[in-house]
Amino acid sequence: MANKYVYFFGGDDTEGKTEMKEILGGKGANLAEMSRIKLPVPPGFTISAEVCDHYYKNGEQYPENVWEQVDENLKKLENVMNRKFGDPEKPLLVSVRSGAAVSMPGMMDTVLNLGLNPESVKALAQKTGNERFAWDAYRRFINMFGDVVMGVPHEEFEKAIQAKKDERGVKLDTELTAEDLKDLAETYMKIYREHTGEEFPTDPKEQLRKAVNAVVRSWNTPRAVKYRELNDIEGLLGTAVNVQVMVFGNMGYNCGTGVAFTRDPASGENKFYGEFLMNAQGEDVVAGIRTPEPIHNLKKEMPENYEQLLEIREKLEQHYTDMQDVEFTIQDGKLWMLQTRTGKRTIFAALLIAVEMVEEGLIDDKEALLRVPAEQLNQLFAPILDAEDRRKAHDDGEVIATGLPASPGGATGTLVFNAEHAEEYTAKAKAEAEKLPKRERAAFLEEQGSLILCRIETTPEDIGGMAVAKGILTARGGMTSHAAVVARGMGVPCVAGAGELDIDYDKKTLAARGRTFKEGDRISIDGFTGEVFGRPITVKPSEILQVLNGEMSPNDSLLFRQYEKFMGWADNVRKLGVRTNADTPRDTEVAVKFGAEGIGLCRTEHMFFEGDRIVAFREMILAENEESRRKALDKILPLQRDDFEGIFRALKGRPATIRTLDPPLHEFLPHDDAGQKQVAKQLGVDVEVVRNKVKSLSESNPMLGHRGCRLGISYPEITEMQARAIMEAAVIVKKDELEVKPELMIPLVGNVKELALQKEVVIRAFEDVLAANGLTKEDIPYLVGTMIEIPRACLTADEVAEEAEFFSFGTNDLTQMGCGFSRDDAGTFLPEYVRLGIYQKDPFQVLDQEGIGKLVDMACELGRKTNPNLKIGICGEHGGEPKSVKFCHRAGLNYVSCSPYRVPVARLAAAQAVLES
Ligand code: PEP
Ligand code: MG
Repeated sequence: MANKYVYFFGGDDTEGKTEMKEILGGKGANLAEMSRIKLPVPPGFTISAEVCDHYYKNGEQYPENVWEQVDENLKKLENVMNRKFGDPEKPLLVSVRSGAAVSMPGMMDTVLNLGLNPESVKALAQKTGNERFAWDAYRRFINMFGDVVMGVPHEEFEKAIQAKKDERGVKLDTELTAEDLKDLAETYMKIYREHTGEEFPTDPKEQLRKAVNAVVRSWNTPRAVKYRELNDIEGLLGTAVNVQVMVFGNMGYNCGTGVAFTRDPASGENKFYGEFLMNAQGEDVVAGIRTPEPIHNLKKEMPENYEQLLEIREKLEQHYTDMQDVEFTIQDGKLWMLQTRTGKRTIFAALLIAVEMVEEGLIDDKEALLRVPAEQLNQLFAPILDAEDRRKAHDDGEVIATGLPASPGGATGTLVFNAEHAEEYTAKAKAEAEKLPKRERAAFLEEQGSLILCRIETTPEDIGGMAVAKGILTARGGMTSHAAVVARGMGVPCVAGAGELDIDYDKKTLAARGRTFKEGDRISIDGFTGEVFGRPITVKPSEILQVLNGEMSPNDSLLFRQYEKFMGWADNVRKLGVRTNADTPRDTEVAVKFGAEGIGLCRTEHMFFEGDRIVAFREMILAENEESRRKALDKILPLQRDDFEGIFRALKGRPATIRTLDPPLHEFLPHDDAGQKQVAKQLGVDVEVVRNKVKSLSESNPMLGHRGCRLGISYPEITEMQARAIMEAAVIVKKDELEVKPELMIPLVGNVKELALQKEVVIRAFEDVLAANGLTKEDIPYLVGTMIEIPRACLTADEVAEEAEFFSFGTNDLTQMGCGFSRDDAGTFLPEYVRLGIYQKDPFQVLDQEGIGKLVDMACELGRKTNPNLKIGICGEHGGEPKSVKFCHRAGLNYVSCSPYRVPVARLAAAQAVLES
């Protein structure tokens, strides 16, 4: 038997169903399903996506006998409808629409009113008693067929209709008469002939074949290909083609058309939500020629149809157990359903709908967990640009650049180009605010104290300025650039790598798209989209955060209550632990509120930038011998101890993995003349001393230079100081009867001997402090482990595991060294690599499972072979990225660690990993 390529739908003859989405496409499968559950669907048939697949795999040839099957189904349709294709008395008219398994709104082609020709248009006029309507349908058909099927420029038809309106002295299409439209159809034919060199086809079967062909070909237009690329749509056969009997919403005032969602797609509220237009076709709604009315007004206009729609809404949700997005048309008072599909929604709606559907008994909690996209979850915590205000700015052409959406949220504020200035401005604004009456302060600070820090790129020195900024904008750098990582960690909105920005630090200006902004001007950024706006836009805070911070009662926030319930389900399911990367007591507190079960990475170097600590640290760097180095370290120790104490207290007994110093030392010294002079003055040394030090520390590839455990090997006293500070803090906390679990981690180990040497230093310091306080390891159980971020450490993980009590994969460095891409410079070619599909995704964002993932697997296996109790985690940026978290679950890791704001994302992704496996 020949392959089946065409599937009929309509009443009892329906052949398809929802589960056949892959071959019938979403639209086709759901039209069939709706027919099955006896909803009013105009009958038709669907040409399988396998035809499209065959077409492209066989040098653009259709499979044998597909057209025969189309003809058979057409005949069946004619019988059911008691009408005939091209009939001069009872013509059958159809629509031809695309529809792939995953919806690609507006990306592919549609032809309506197919079947009209000089004969059938008259029959249509007669049958409807509406000549104007018939000619209008005809001229629309010629336009659509010409444009979509034959590539006649749409503007040509637009020009013709405009000329007609001008000639008749009218403004609206609807003011043209039947005669005008008839004339216009003639003109359209002429345009068609001129552009194609052919007559417009009058045989409906020829029209149909050409239209089907056009839809199949629209699968591979550049914009459709691009859309699939951008939305990660892969592995589909192609588009199916739906041929369906036309129903008209524009035959008079007992007709109409509309679109609706079974719940509000923005807020998730359980109410019928949509719009409709009386006496109109779907395209009128889309084209915005007339403003549609809210759906509840239909109750007044056509109460019976409205009631029927409400019943269908109920039936669809019960049947599909998800929010649906539907299209409908009313022809002569009869309601027809033209489409249903799972409705797209914001993260807010996704959460609310999932939780409420569990409460309504439609789905269970596990299904709910799978319905909320983990990668979008942190959007719940970001301040947001007011939607209305933002739209206005957009319409006013205020977008001045687009970069990477590096950290979600909206921010509006005063432009500043220097991190120090940012801190100064903030301090000044605070001081000024103090002088104002109390009730005016908040508003004043909101306006004067809100800053957008704009840098070509940021460095650790900018931390202070970044911390006070409401938003961060950079011209260079990718999604794992310093700005992006730090901003996400802080939960500050960030647009990174907006290459169009021309930043001049000297003049303190930013130029883009022909406009120039200076320091002090107010701009806005949208970290959800990467857009930069040249004017202020109102910002609103996240509700969930307000509750977590105790500024709002949970009783006042439905969203928060639903969020809590939802995350509780995730925690019940997941097997992976979730920790956080945090360097301060404040970040730790935030992370714990977000559900972190400990710290997986505390980057101690970040602590050195706070206040004037950097002075003592620089003194340590400039020291010529161990003795003077120790003197400087003695000044730093109490400061670090205070930090660790704060962190341990915030953790309330949860474990903390603390890493010894990692970055190369030159990062802590200024590279500019003025900065070097200042350091010399502060430390009371000659500026030459500073200059020479900077010169001697400079490296051409600092990420592969004197950093990580290599520093501790050269200067064991630094490691010793850090270990002492950690254990002294632990002792202080322990004496308050609080539990504390320090875990010290040595970075950048590639050879087990490095770890062994550092471990010795650490354990000596730990035991020393414990003994001096009359305590033992029993009182403060500590661990010493290592980061795994050098390929050699993976290859020799069995040896490394004999010295390590835990592994934590530093996948940022492991990716850098495994792929041979510099973390700092890969931005120049990686986007191209991703575009070419060499890597599916930026491997610094999404773990490269085929390559780096193998190193991870290997290290786990080797490590556990020699040390079965080895605890294994990950603390690279990938620890908060859902796909990578799922990989970590499969690889058998014990936990992931990520920035505080990503903790909920990781909790959900970890639960989904269990449910998907
Ligand atoms: C890593 O390399 O993955 C890591 C967490 O360390 P850092 O990013 O600080 O080098
Ligand atoms: Mg690292």
